[in-house]
Amino acid sequence: MSKGKLFVISGASGVGKSTVLAKVMEGREDLKFSVSATTRPPRPGEEEGVSYYFVTKERFEQMIRQNAFLEYDAHMANFYGTPEKQVDEKLEQGSVILDIDPNGAFQVRQKRKDAVLIFITPPSMQALEQRLLGRGDTSKEQMQMRLERAHWEMEQSKQYDYIVVNQQVDACAEEITNIIAKHCAEE
Ligand code: 5GP
Repeated sequence: MSKGKLFVISGASGVGKSTVLAKVMEGREDLKFSVSATTRPPRPGEEEGVSYYFVTKERFEQMIRQNAFLEYDAHMANFYGTPEKQVDEKLEQGSVILDIDPNGAFQVRQKRKDAVLIFITPPSMQALEQRLLGRGDTSKEQMQMRLERAHWEMEQSKQYDYIVVNQQVDACAEEITNIIAKHCAEE
């Protein structure tokens, strides 16, 4: 039996998931972050093998054929997937956190029945819409797509084991830390 447990964390885009996750993982040697493969180009500051493994579409398709993914999904015209071998290696060292979207989360639940699914939600849909609009860096069409996606993601949250509200980053991170501790204490 592996040493750790598998935690899947999702959240509507714009909810502040990365900030919360960074807090949860801070100084925790026993928690490992699963690094996904993606075909999207790196953003400034993102590091190969840390943020993502940045791969070509051809390489991604090859990995699908090789059955290398625990789950994968297409999202905003790019592919994202969790390399399965990496997850199992990390599970030998501790618990593993997957930051993936709802489609991926449900695939993981099918394959790993003991995975714990946590969804981070904004205090209100209005707050999320304001955050998305506040970014102000995109066209009207892109904004519409983001909003539709956010609504869809919120709808999926009903199927998660836990829904945690991100009213305040520290409190949200603490709640997730407690959920992780509770499941890690279980046999
Ligand atoms: P971004 O491009 O902003 O880094 O991520 C976009 C979305 O893709 C986020 O909701 C993130 O959780 C999701 N994502 C990242 N990696 C994976 C993955 O390996 N599989 C799936 N299904 N979704 C992922």
